Amino acid sequence: MVDDERDGVRLTSLDSPLGDGLGVTKGDLVDHLDAFADRLVPLLAGRPLSVMRVRPGAAPFMQRNVPKGAPDWVATVPVWSASTSRQIHQVLCDDRRTLLWLGNQRAVEFHVPFLPAGATRPTGLVLDLDPPEGAPFEVVVRTAHLVRRALTDAGLAGAVKTSGSKGVHVVVPIRDAEPDDAAAATRALAARTERLEPELATTAYIKDDRHGRVFVDSTRSGTTTIVAAYSPRIRPGLPVSAPVDWADLDDADPGRVTVRTAGELLGGGDLWAAELPEPQQLPAELVAEGHTIPVARVAAMHEGRRRARARREAGDG
Ligand code: ATP
Ligand code: MN
Repeated sequence: MVDDERDGVRLTSLDSPLGDGLGVTKGDLVDHLDAFADRLVPLLAGRPLSVMRVRPGAAPFMQRNVPKGAPDWVATVPVWSASTSRQIHQVLCDDRRTLLWLGNQRAVEFHVPFLPAGATRPTGLVLDLDPPEGAPFEVVVRTAHLVRRALTDAGLAGAVKTSGSKGVHVVVPIRDAEPDDAAAATRALAARTERLEPELATTAYIKDDRHGRVFVDSTRSGTTTIVAAYSPRIRPGLPVSAPVDWADLDDADPGRVTVRTAGELLGGGDLWAAELPEPQQLPAELVAEGHTIPVARVAAMHEGRRRARARREAGDG
């Protein structure tokens, strides 16, 4: 067993498989996190962290609450968990040593909200683009360009990264916006994207209504999370959520940047920091338009009930 110590953190079994069918070792994960610590930690710092962990012989699981026995130098923040009706303590990954400690726990995916701990205003918004089943990556790329056009038309700019999984994320740094207004602006941007090319992009929250189109998800705001740039994903080879220059987007291949290739393909610079524009003020008319659009999740729930009622009535008739 290859053990190691970095930054005072004991790293164990680095030569062992990270998890089932991933084709990488625990050392591959830890080395990636270490190499990208300078770029990854600023994206995580001060934000309640959720991690997806793996281990051989077990299904991956999402961990929000800090594990028992965490060193006392690991910073945490108390958070009310509505789903479990209790207070939990989430890790704040504020330094390299915490990142390494998490890596040693086989934490692979690093998910954070746009709302920092203790803050009242989000630092960004995201359009999360999800391709339909079996579609080529090209359709997501085309949709990302539509999002960019919708942003430009609204006087805004964003940065794009692969999710490391199937789709892409277009992130827009913002300032001075209440959470509800940021969420509304996201809905308006999604709707405008759909209007630009309705045969390609859809805001339909119900899967059956998408009909092979790319889903422009506007619901990842407030305390909900998005995977951080440079975070690996729990998929074979450990692909990484990779920043992409808009000019290179057409050639992007979502599976190419992995924990083993990221160092070479992304180089030593911080492309994500370079791509992200300064935080922007949201245009009032964009926010106002968004407030006229119902929240997708709530609308889908009402629509589901309406359809069930229609089915019952059809059955009765
Ligand atoms: P893909 O490209 O396959 O869509 P993704 O990371 O965008 O990958 P989504 O399912 O679209 O995955 O979700 C977007 C983000 O929402 C994720 O990055 C994650 O942070 C968060 N998320 C999604 N599902 C969950 C979940 N079940 N629990 C916690 N967070 C989730
Ligand atoms: Mn997605």
